[in-house]
Amino acid sequence: MYNGLKGKVAVVTGGSKGIGNAIARRLSEEKMKVVINYHSDKEGAEETVEELKKAGGEAVAVEADVSSEDGVKALLDAAISNFGDLDVWINNAGMENKVSTHELTLEDWDKVINVNLTGVFLGSKAALNHFLEKNKKGNIINLSSVHERIPWPTFAHYSASKGGVKLFNETIALEYAHKGIRVNSIAPGAINTPINAEKFENEEEKEKTLNMIPMNYIGKPEEVAAAAAWLASDESSYVTGTTLFVDGGMTLYPSFEKGEG
Ligand code: NAD
Repeated sequence: MYNGLKGKVAVVTGGSKGIGNAIARRLSEEKMKVVINYHSDKEGAEETVEELKKAGGEAVAVEADVSSEDGVKALLDAAISNFGDLDVWINNAGMENKVSTHELTLEDWDKVINVNLTGVFLGSKAALNHFLEKNKKGNIINLSSVHERIPWPTFAHYSASKGGVKLFNETIALEYAHKGIRVNSIAPGAINTPINAEKFENEEEKEKTLNMIPMNYIGKPEEVAAAAAWLASDESSYVTGTTLFVDGGMTLYPSFEKGEG
């Protein structure tokens, strides 16, 4: 349990499954009130809400597309109408698809940028306006990726979106630090979630990924959720504008592991 979370209100985008779901569950365990956003997986979101309520938590599932202003407004409204406030906004929703850049359609480019980068902007803007209006030292957490740092051929749109999140994160952290509003990113490496399910079902593909992870295992969504809970809490009170890598060492140039080169 971390200090300063109990009774506070969080919005978690894309919270019906994967990392967002683990974050929603962890924040509920920390006695926060949670708005769990979903876009397509209504069942996953509603089942999670039921489970959290049974365990004594307070949560609500809300459908919204984070790439639209109406969508993020619906999430902020839900936080206020259900729980009376907003303290922590977690921009977790994301998507990717593998395609060579010379074959990448503008439609696919736009889809990924709209969710992964514009969604982060819109969510942050909604949260910032609420925090400023209430003179509140709110907290924004963005799910970036190791690909805000590592180039990823055949995922150029994804890498560009996460690179964009990096400087957006740093810029708004600087812009609102004097108000006591903190903004940080989490950069997961390879985490076992539906986004990777197909890849990790293939043993050969899984092995290739494991070879890129010095700690030699695929991360668990709960390991990312623990980082989110810490960043949301008062225990990280002096941390802003940073990216916390939760990647088993993937960004440490594993090809240099044996001192070669
Ligand atoms: P996931 O596919 O399991 O979950 C992503 C969630 O985002 C889904 O619930 C999906 O419905 C939601 N979403 C997509 N478009 C949306 C929209 N327009 N509006 C609202 N919600 C929408 O993926 P995940 O692995 O849990 O990833 C969560 C975040 O972490 C993403 O931003 C992803 O890029 C990032 N990430 C994941 C990994 C990993 O290995 N799993 C690694 C690095 C970064």
